[in-house]
This record gives sequence, structure tokens and C-alpha cells, in this order.
Amino acid sequence: MTQQLTIALTKGRILQQTLPLLKAAGLSPVEDIASSRKLIFNTEHSDVRLVILRGSDVPTYVRHGAADVGVVGKDMLLEFGADGLYEPLDLGIARCRLMTAGFSGRESVRTRVRVASKFVNIARRYYSSKGVQADIIKLYGAMELAPLMDLADEIVDIVDTGNTLRANGMSPLEHIADISTRLVVNKAAMRTRHGVIQEVIEALARAVEQIVDQDSAL
Ligand code: AMP
Repeated sequence: MTQQLTIALTKGRILQQTLPLLKAAGLSPVEDIASSRKLIFNTEHSDVRLVILRGSDVPTYVRHGAADVGVVGKDMLLEFGADGLYEPLDLGIARCRLMTAGFSGRESVRTRVRVASKFVNIARRYYSSKGVQADIIKLYGAMELAPLMDLADEIVDIVDTGNTLRANGMSPLEHIADISTRLVVNKAAMRTRHGVIQEVIEALARAVEQIVDQDSAL
């Protein structure tokens, strides 16, 4: 048997929205991922298996060729880089925006700003592109707490409805990027395993269209 193609999936919210696409593409896991502690799953396609990772690890697995294909948020690609990866397909799921946020009204007076984020590379690039001197503070979660506790003036975070920010007295301030989930492919694998990878890309592209059509028919 030739080695299976490995697709690295991002667990959590993105996984929940990826499963219907995998189903429509004929790539469903043969076991229920949610009720299992396993991390590697065979699929109904005998040549394809799935591995479940944190989003921040997906680009690394695919870049090193430990996985051939990945499903990952654009935020992770912007933060950790997309060297060695092709990005052939926007899966259109887990859409949100990367924004700066804070207490509105204060942004005009700043000359130097303390910014808390888990997206330190994105934050550094963004403030430097605006010519604002920023001291970037790395956090791993609950970014919206940082301005409340006066650890930072602003945060760079993912915003969907904005409810989390509003519940904490803050507002989204500046738009940095629109985010959605992308399919990424290891560049070397794209050459050496072209047939099966192309099959997966096309099946997922059809699944994305099918789901868009279903949604617009509602
Ligand atoms: P909201 O209150 O709807 O603006 O959601 C904001 C929080 O939900 C963010 O702090 C994120 O942690 C999380 N979130 C919302 N959408 C996404 C997404 N597409 N991917 C990852 N996290 C998200």
C-alpha cells in the first residue's frame, strides 16, 4: 500500500465547520472525532487520513511535510508564515476579522502604545506599517482582559460579532485583515503526490460550492 495522504485539521471551532465539508467531499473520518481521544483517524477514502492539531501547529506540520495538506485559519498563516506552503483554496468557514481593539476615543492621542496579543508578529507589522511605536506583549488567551487590567492600551484579536469586546466595555478599532479557513499544501508533496492532492482539492472545492449553494437557497 502506498503511504496515506495526511490532512492536518485545526481542532475546535474550525473542526466543527470542516466536518460537513469533509463529508460532502467523501473524506469523513471513520470514527467520531469528538468522542475519541485519538489524534489520527482513517477516513472513508482509504488513501487519506486525518490528524487533529492546534491551529498554530498546522503550518509547522505541513511545512515540514509531516502532513501533506492542512486546514488552518488565515490568521495562523499571517502569524506564523506560509513559506513552503501553497494555499490553493479558501474554505470560506470560520470567517472573522483581525482587528485592533480597546476603549474607543483614545486612539487619536497615542504616540506610543502597549499592545497585548497572541498575534505578536501581525501586531508588530501592523503598528509599524502605521508608523506607531508599539510595545507588544505576548498573551496566550483572554486578550480583552489586558486593557481592563491596564496591562495594555489596545489588543489585536479576532472579532466575529464583537460581543466579547462590548461585554468588556471595549470596541473594535482598526481592521487589519479578513480571516477565513484555508487549505494549505506542502510544496514538495504537491509535486510528488499530485494525483491524490488534486483529487482532494477538487472534492473540497466542490463541497465548498455545494454548501454555499445550500446556504443561499435558505
Ligand atoms: P465575538 O464575541 O463574536 O466577536 O467573538 C470573539 C472571540 O471568539 C474571539 O476572541 C475569538 O477567540 C473567538 N472567535 C470568533 N470567531 C473565531 C474564528 N473564526 N476563529 C477563531 N476564533 C474565533
